[in-house]
Amino acid sequence: MLYKEQEIKIYNSLSGSKEIFKPINEGHVGMYVCGPTVYSNVHLGNVRTFMSFDMIFRYFKHLGYKVRYVRNITDAGHLENDADEGEDRIAKKARLEQIEPMEVVQMYTVDFHNTLNTFNFLPPSIEPTATGHIIEQIEIIKTILEKGLAYEVNGSVYFDVIKYNETNQYGKLSGRNIEDLIHNTRALDGQSDKKNPQDFALWKKAEPQHIMRWPSPWSDGFPGWHLECTAMSTKYLGENFDIHGGGMDLKFPHHECEIAQSEACYGPTPVNYWMHANMLIMNGKKMAKSTGNYILPNEIFTGENKNISKAFNPSVARFFMLQAHYRSILDFTNAGLLASEKGFNKLMEAMATLDKISVSEKTSGMDVQDWRANCYKAMNDDFNSPILIAELFGAVKFINQIKDQKASISEDDYKVLKTTLHDFIFDVLGLVDEDASGESTDKLSDAVEVLIKLRNEARANKDFALSDKIRDELASKGIQLKDGKDGTSFSTN
Ligand SMILES: [Zn+2]
Repeated sequence: MLYKEQEIKIYNSLSGSKEIFKPINEGHVGMYVCGPTVYSNVHLGNVRTFMSFDMIFRYFKHLGYKVRYVRNITDAGHLENDADEGEDRIAKKARLEQIEPMEVVQMYTVDFHNTLNTFNFLPPSIEPTATGHIIEQIEIIKTILEKGLAYEVNGSVYFDVIKYNETNQYGKLSGRNIEDLIHNTRALDGQSDKKNPQDFALWKKAEPQHIMRWPSPWSDGFPGWHLECTAMSTKYLGENFDIHGGGMDLKFPHHECEIAQSEACYGPTPVNYWMHANMLIMNGKKMAKSTGNYILPNEIFTGENKNISKAFNPSVARFFMLQAHYRSILDFTNAGLLASEKGFNKLMEAMATLDKISVSEKTSGMDVQDWRANCYKAMNDDFNSPILIAELFGAVKFINQIKDQKASISEDDYKVLKTTLHDFIFDVLGLVDEDASGESTDKLSDAVEVLIKLRNEARANKDFALSDKIRDELASKGIQLKDGKDGTSFSTN
C-alpha cells in the first residue's frame, strides 16, 4: 500500500501547527465535512471548500486508505444569521416561494449535486440529513442534560457554556477565551430564555408559525443547528474520529459548539485533526449579489455573467481553484481563469504528446524518480496542490524536450512518468481531459477533417485564394492547421 511509504502532514487548526497524520485505525480514514444548507444555489465559495476536501479524499484513496467520508445536508435548524433566534432559512424560502420546505430542500439538493457532478466531485461515502437524524439529536440532548451541562427553559434546551468551561475549554479551536466572549457579547434583552448570552440552543420550541417541527420530551420543536453535525459525525465515524473539515467561517461558533457538545456527551475530544479551507473572493473583494461582484457556479460554464469574458470548461475552473492552496484566500478573476485555461490546455497537450513519443536507451533531461517523489512530497505537505501543479509543469517541459529531441526517456522511466501523471492529474486533482472523451470534440474533428479535405482539393486545383482562406479562417477560430509529410493535422488552443 502506498500509504505505508508516504507520511502526510496536516495543518491542524486546533494546535495551529502541521502534524504528522496518524489515523486511529491503520489504513482507514474517517472524515466529516460540514455540508450545505440547501435553501439556495450553492455558493462558489462553498464549492471551493468542498473541492478542497474532494481533493483530500481523492489523495487518501489514491494512497490506498479505506476512507469513510461523511458530508451532511442541512435541511432544518439553520436559522438566519447563524443565530438561535429568527426564521429557519429553509422555511423562509418556502414561505417566500409558497412551496413546501421539503420542496426547497429537494430543489437545492439536486442543484448542489448537479453542480458538484459537473466539477467532477466524487460522491461522499455517506450524505446524511439533519431531518433524518432527529432521534439521535434528541438522545444527545438527553445525555447532556443528565450530565448537568444543559438546562431547559419554556420547552427549549440550551447548552450551559459557563458550566462546561469550568471543566473544559470553550474557545480552544477559534482561539477565543470565555472572559473575552462574555465581555464582547451584548447583554440579553430580557426576551431570551438563556442564562448567559454565550449559551447556545440544543433544542428550540417551535413558534406556532414554524412548520418544520418534531415531538420531543421538551416541546414540539427543532434541533439547534450545531447539534446535527455532532449527531451525524459520531454516529457514522465514532466518538473520536480522524478529520473534521469545513469552511473557515464555521470555526466559530459552529465547530466550537460541536466540540463542546461532543465532549459534554461522550467525554473525549471528538476530532484529532481539524481542517479549515480558506475563503474565495472575487476581483479582490468579497462576493456580494447586491454589488454585482458575484457569480453562480453554473454561470462559469455558460459564460453568462458580466464578470467573465467567456465560458470556461469545468476542468479549467477546477484547475484554477486547485492552483491555490486550500488554506490561502483564492481570488476569482477572469484573468486568472484565462491563464488557467492556457495552463490546462498545455497540460492536456503534453499528455497527448506523451502517448506519441518514443523511448530511448537512457533517460536524460530529468530524474523521473526524483520528480515522482517530489509530487508526493507536495501532497504530503498539507495537500499542497499548487506545488504539485508546478511539478506537473516540470514534467510538461520535459515531455516537450523529448518531443524536440533535446531530452530522452528510458522505457522504465516512461512507465513511471505516465502512471504518475495519470494518477495526479486525473485521480488526485480530479481533472477531466474533455478533448479526449467529449463527443462534441469528435464531431469537431470530423468537421475540421472535411475542411482539410476541401482545402487539399482547392490546392490541387491551384485555387490558393480558397485554400488560404480556409486555413486563415480556422486560425482565427483558434484552430491551427499544420502541413507535414504525413498530411495535414490540426491543433486547438
Ligand atoms: Zn457542521
